Amino acid sequence: MKLISLPAFTDNYLWLWQQDANAVVIDPGDAQPVLDALTHHGLTLAAILVTHHHADHIGGVARLHQATGAPVFGPAREDIPQPFTPVMEADQLTLMGHKVQVLDVPGHTAGHVAYFVPYAPQSPVLFCGDTLFSGGCGRVFEGTPAQMLASLDALAALPSNTRVCCAHEYTLSNLRFAAAVEPHNTALQTYTAHCQSLRAQGLPTLPAQLGTELQINPFLRTRHPDVQHAVAHHAGLSQTTRTDDVAVFAALRQWKNDFK
Ligand SMILES: [Zn+2]
Repeated sequence: MKLISLPAFTDNYLWLWQQDANAVVIDPGDAQPVLDALTHHGLTLAAILVTHHHADHIGGVARLHQATGAPVFGPAREDIPQPFTPVMEADQLTLMGHKVQVLDVPGHTAGHVAYFVPYAPQSPVLFCGDTLFSGGCGRVFEGTPAQMLASLDALAALPSNTRVCCAHEYTLSNLRFAAAVEPHNTALQTYTAHCQSLRAQGLPTLPAQLGTELQINPFLRTRHPDVQHAVAHHAGLSQTTRTDDVAVFAALRQWKNDFK
């Protein structure tokens, strides 16, 4: 089994999950890079998975489906190109011989789902779309901060050796913000140097490791006293509000939105 990140647009990754001569693609915002990779590696497309309805995640779905006949699975509560099999929390798929669990992770969009492969060889794999990024999280466009926090909590509870396949290479800019929140976090400093080195070589920083994210990603650390303190100071939260998980998360997300 292999995870191939296909760069697309400015900073998207279309993930190709390869198993022997087959592959599953996640969030093909563009068809051509996927078709090229299938030809290059001699692979048959077994399925198309979609996490949410944004154009940079679904733009290539119709053409790929027409070209390969691969079935499409997508969020039950969102409009994505027909035909597709709607999936939601607790649904389980079997793809290329692997169990895939569907998780509801609303917040970035109202019906966003993630796909978790618990028994992947070596370690579990998560395809989380625009919910979790390395060092950051997606913007809360359609859901509420409470929903987004609950979604991130659900992802944070997965095994710490989970490989996290995020849909964008936002890592270095996220880490710049993370350093503003936690300037004394040594794990964050070590990880930043590692990611800078990868990018300098033109390599992706992904997949991320969930265990590392728990140490460095402020959006998974909103209950840590250092993060609470930094957010309270930045946003001027009151003594009672600064221990309110949702208020801290909302203020942290707003801080990131405004961060230059
Ligand atoms: Zn999106």
